[in-house]
Amino acid sequence: MSTLPMHDVINPATELVVKQVPSTSAEETNALIEKAHRAFDSWRHVAPGDRARLLRAFAALVDDHVEELAQLEVANAGHTIGNARWEAGNVRDVLNYYSAAPERLFGRQIPVANGLDVTIKEPLGVVGVIVPWNFPMPIAGWGFAPALAAGNTVVLKPAEVTPLTAIRLAELGREAGLPDGVFTVIPGKGSIVGNAIVAHPSVRKVVFTGSTEVGTALMAQCAPQVKRVTLELGGKSANVIFADADLELAAARAPYGVFDNAGQDCCARSRILVQKSVYDRFLELFIPAVKGVRVEDPRLETSEMGPLITAKHRQTVASFVPDDASVLFRGSVPEGPGFWYPATVLEATSSKDRVVQEEIFGPVVVVMPFEDEDDAVRQSNDSPYGLSGSIWTRDVGRAIRVARGIETGNLSVNSHSSVRYWTPFGGFKQSGLGRELGPDALDSFTETKNIFFDTSD
Ligand code: NAD
Repeated sequence: MSTLPMHDVINPATELVVKQVPSTSAEETNALIEKAHRAFDSWRHVAPGDRARLLRAFAALVDDHVEELAQLEVANAGHTIGNARWEAGNVRDVLNYYSAAPERLFGRQIPVANGLDVTIKEPLGVVGVIVPWNFPMPIAGWGFAPALAAGNTVVLKPAEVTPLTAIRLAELGREAGLPDGVFTVIPGKGSIVGNAIVAHPSVRKVVFTGSTEVGTALMAQCAPQVKRVTLELGGKSANVIFADADLELAAARAPYGVFDNAGQDCCARSRILVQKSVYDRFLELFIPAVKGVRVEDPRLETSEMGPLITAKHRQTVASFVPDDASVLFRGSVPEGPGFWYPATVLEATSSKDRVVQEEIFGPVVVVMPFEDEDDAVRQSNDSPYGLSGSIWTRDVGRAIRVARGIETGNLSVNSHSSVRYWTPFGGFKQSGLGRELGPDALDSFTETKNIFFDTSD
């Protein structure tokens, strides 16, 4: 790869070059896919116990390198060190979780006349995993760990601006003993490497996480080959706060439901819907809580929010807050270099406002009132997206009714947590297609083969 053109990877908190990484060409990508295709023939036949052992060895090496991986992510993506450690630990945990799968990839025996009928879960072949820049490590792991466990080989394309941890993870995989070609990271542009992965007939499945715009185009590109696809796309999730909630707690937690990772989170609760009777009281509690979010050098242990990923992305985020925006609060940011953007609270003037309908993917939240349960559900669902969301209430019946009414893939009641590696994750509507994580993820990386054995004389 040494002759390939190089691409600067920039630290978003300092604007300095961290490293140069090759921009892989389409030809080189195709060659690596073909190598992964050849490796599939032997990887799929590795004994289940051996495949499991290799994945556990990979997990153990990730565990040994959590701090190194976390520091790399702080430098590459501007994540706070606390978050980055969690993210590296998540890769380890996801690998460990799916390392239990190879020996448990059960089929069925189905009663039939005059024979025996069994189903077998066959691996697909080469799986392409295309990753965005906002959570480079976890999103990579959610794709490659179950794919490898099911007997597929993987080619993974990190986002152009955040390739460093994925490249390091591939090195750790090799060190753990994964055979050559089983797990290959291919850095480069979406229009070149991503496109080549989607187009290549040996890639039998694409797991794409990114924008709804690129995801829909990619799905169309997969159609002529009937290529399997999982899509994890954008979000505009609602944080619904009822008058009977523990308002102090809801207000104290709400900033972290949206400003975590500087709002660059597909699950960000970026619309706060508050019942009208407690709207003013909630704001009295919420604004000081936002003021308390520590926006500082992400290397500091105390840092709660770092910079945005690029200058270009900061411009996009800023475009949602024009001079005449209804700003309730705007925080401060460190002086000097870095693509910083302050935590910003807006009040919606209409449910059709751009800030209410579109994903901002930055630390900008919009607050709006609702009347009653029906109105809360209606407003929550007034979005093309449906990825995540929260409901705050002390009334269990209401929590269940509203949770059933909201069209979204991942809800939490009286909390903002969305992701556990052992529970399913994914979106309704234009937030995606399919589910990752949890006990059923292996189904997305296998084909079911039905075999009938005739036992008649
Ligand atoms: P993006 O769509 O611009 O890029 C995502 C990946 O696709 C990158 O690796 C990119 O290089 C690649 N790509 C771009 N064009 C391509 C093409 N033509 N063919 C193949 N690959 C191509 O998204 P982004 O800006 O990196 O990430 C932000 C978006 O990701 C947000 O919308 C966010 O909500 C979404 N996201 C969703 C989830 C989820 O789980 N639902 C998680 C994280 C991020």
